[in-house]
Amino acid sequence: MWRTYKQIDKGSDLLSPTAHTPLPRSQRGIQLPSRSVCVHCHRQLEWFENIPLVSFLILRGKCRTCKKIIPMDYFVVELVVGLGFLFLGWYHFNSNQIVPALLFRDFFFFSLFTVIFAYDLKYYLIISNLVWVGSIVAFVVSYFFLGFSTYSLLLGILIASGFFLLQYLVSRGKWIGGGDVRLGVVMGALLGFPNILVALFLAYVGGGLISLPLVIFKKKGMQSQIPFGTFLSVATLVAMLWGRQVADWYVGLIGL
Ligand SMILES: [Zn+2]
Repeated sequence: MWRTYKQIDKGSDLLSPTAHTPLPRSQRGIQLPSRSVCVHCHRQLEWFENIPLVSFLILRGKCRTCKKIIPMDYFVVELVVGLGFLFLGWYHFNSNQIVPALLFRDFFFFSLFTVIFAYDLKYYLIISNLVWVGSIVAFVVSYFFLGFSTYSLLLGILIASGFFLLQYLVSRGKWIGGGDVRLGVVMGALLGFPNILVALFLAYVGGGLISLPLVIFKKKGMQSQIPFGTFLSVATLVAMLWGRQVADWYVGLIGL
């Protein structure tokens, strides 16, 4: 449940933000311990200490041996993913027809973007490996299983990444990070054109609405970093699930 090292062999890896805690440069890409450990005493965890949500509650948020507090973030992320899964299950089972590829896509990318969201919020970092895996999965699912055209996907990727890259170059990496540019690839391959426009619209409107008060009330200066990946994650998920509805609502609003 609380890990400091990468765990490659378990599916639950994706749901564990700590699995991707930055390692010292010397350890990157080299063989890593495969078992989860306590972040404080580094003791290897037993299976029953590693059950999402349940273990945290049973252990009352403390390590069994060193008694130090287990960071709450893992519990929160697991809770969000759990509630999200319940919602997605409800959402799909209430739809007219269950499409397995859509079901897989929604669960997979909900998990992926929750981790990206939490990690960017906390560390101002977008995990590249997740982004590359996400890009490939998104492209395969969209192209081979959901019938997106090559044109739609390539244009989606080009618009998102190109738009971010432009801002990255203009601001010399101040407004937007390299991670956001790469994130544009996942977004484009997942949403395609024109739905990518919905995600960008939501991210910029949401980002503006939330950062403006922070800047005005001096919680954050104009120069201070705002984790844009968090807005992109939420916007992408909303566009993935309700892109059509958002577009229709907006078109109705501006009276087109
Ligand atoms: Zn411990």
